[in-house]
Amino acid sequence: MLKYLWPDLYLEKVTVLDEGILKKYSLKGLILDLDNTISPWGERTIPQDVVKWVKRMQKLGIRFCLVSNNSNGRVQEIADFLGIPYVARAIKPRRRAFLRAVHLMGLKPLEVAVIGDQLLTDIMGAKRAGLMAILVNPMASREFIGTKINRFIEGHLLKRLFRKGLKIYVPQGGFNGNADKR
Ligand SMILES: [Mg+2]
Repeated sequence: MLKYLWPDLYLEKVTVLDEGILKKYSLKGLILDLDNTISPWGERTIPQDVVKWVKRMQKLGIRFCLVSNNSNGRVQEIADFLGIPYVARAIKPRRRAFLRAVHLMGLKPLEVAVIGDQLLTDIMGAKRAGLMAILVNPMASREFIGTKINRFIEGHLLKRLFRKGLKIYVPQGGFNGNADKR
């Protein structure tokens, strides 16, 4: 089970992802989770630094797709704001939405990474779909009750991953120790 939960990369937040990482993993597309990955849970806005990061990545030719378990309205609103395609009601960790996102971006699975804050939906779904999985720390502590229960389980799983050697990536300096902020 742990092999489906092991992120290929663990970043403090999405904006840490830079050109170096894109090159190292030959990435051309990024599938973004919405809640607590690019937007605090339940909010209709995207932080300015994330918007700038998306634009900077787009200038480098990176394609995006938003994939969220949330229902249509807010997902579409944010996807439209960023000018990227989306898949709502994704039922992560099921594979289908991720594969649809890869298709929407017109890329091959090997060229795409999934970025998300939850092991049991984003990371597991990415791995099951054969995509690179990038874990980030969640943005906000306020969240959906179902997520809170997941988070409790994930806290334990994450501790196991740390014990087995999972490290957070620190730009310019390689990898830090278990710098867990959860
Ligand atoms: Mg999330």
